[in-house]
Amino acid sequence: MNPSPTLKGQAALVTGGDSGIGKGVALALAAAGAKVVVNFAHNQAAAEATVNEITAAGGETIAVQADVSQESEVKAMFAQMYAKYGTIDILINNAGLQKDSKFIDMTLEDWNTVIGINLTGQFLCAREAAREFIRRGVVDGLSRAAGKIICMSSVHEVIPWAGHVNYAASKGGISMFMKSIAQELAPHKIRVMGIGPGAIQTPINKAAWDTPEALNNLLTLIPYNRIGVPGDIGKLATWLASDEADYITGITIFMDGGMTLYPGFADNG
Ligand code: NAD
Repeated sequence: MNPSPTLKGQAALVTGGDSGIGKGVALALAAAGAKVVVNFAHNQAAAEATVNEITAAGGETIAVQADVSQESEVKAMFAQMYAKYGTIDILINNAGLQKDSKFIDMTLEDWNTVIGINLTGQFLCAREAAREFIRRGVVDGLSRAAGKIICMSSVHEVIPWAGHVNYAASKGGISMFMKSIAQELAPHKIRVMGIGPGAIQTPINKAAWDTPEALNNLLTLIPYNRIGVPGDIGKLATWLASDEADYITGITIFMDGGMTLYPGFADNG
């Protein structure tokens, strides 16, 4: 993998780009030359900090607020992006959250919130991006594809997760969503891919790494014996969006230090 494939001149949108993995991806895409829209839901200060970091490093970027589960806000966000950068070349469907509880205690509101942001949010953003990719087509000299969509999934696309059924269902849903639109959009020269992170050190899973006991417990699930960092995912997203990955579409790449290798079977099978 080339550590710095060029995305020069391409316009990218990263949903939830103000924190964690999204921020890591936004920084990496900007470092590879993309103009980056940093979407945020509520935390304007965090989005501005991301924008300032990219600008200080010589990159081009703006922050745009939108709740990705709301159709009107998604449309307004794309309109702001087109007003600034004219088009979109790369969509990183990253925004997501957890609302955990035992299944029998789970409220409909917590089910709907997680599905609405993690899955419907990806539908709304991908649909807008795909419409623009098809309208504009391939731009010679910019990229071999008319557009790239990267869906942030999870190892919970394939690993069941008791106590987190809304989250696991949203990620399982992303798998078939991603593959189905990859099949439908490939004739338009649009590539659609998933990234399935394992444990990445971000605010979403702070309880799993912020004490030595919690981290040790987490590491029993990771054969490679380290927690991931947002920059790991940033490198993969940058490569997948680049022409170096031009023959890849319709798959999820797991980046998880071996979490999907059923580590419990290493000495117990
Ligand atoms: P995070 O909490 O740091 O970031 C989540 C981001 O989503 C934030 O920027 C937040 O503002 C944004 N967001 C939440 N609701 C939103 C909404 N309605 N509209 C727009 N943005 C919204 O957590 P993270 O770990 O960086 O998570 C990013 C993605 O990676 C999520 O989809 C998550 O499921 C996935 N993921 C994370 C891990 C991990 O270990 N950290 C593992 C697998 C998958």
